Amino acid sequence: MEEGGTGGCRMKIVADRAVCVGAGMCVMTAPEVFDQGDDGLVVTLIEEVAAGRLDAVRRSVALCPSKALRVLDD
Ligand code: SF4
Repeated sequence: MEEGGTGGCRMKIVADRAVCVGAGMCVMTAPEVFDQGDDGLVVTLIEEVAAGRLDAVRRSVALCPSKALRVLDD
């Protein structure tokens, strides 16, 4: 599969730090997209996901134990 892609749709990542419990599943699953701040809570490194990274991001959304992550259609 091609990484990046130009003509595809772009998805926006929304991470709710008020809900995040700092489990780090998202960081382990998609380290190029998510990080954890000094407080242990999620930090998004990019706002829009290219098509090639969607699978990893969707996996992170599914694995997040506090349901703090969402992917929105642009
Ligand atoms: S997986 Fe969910 S709870 Fe864990 S750090 Fe990521 S957003 Fe926070």
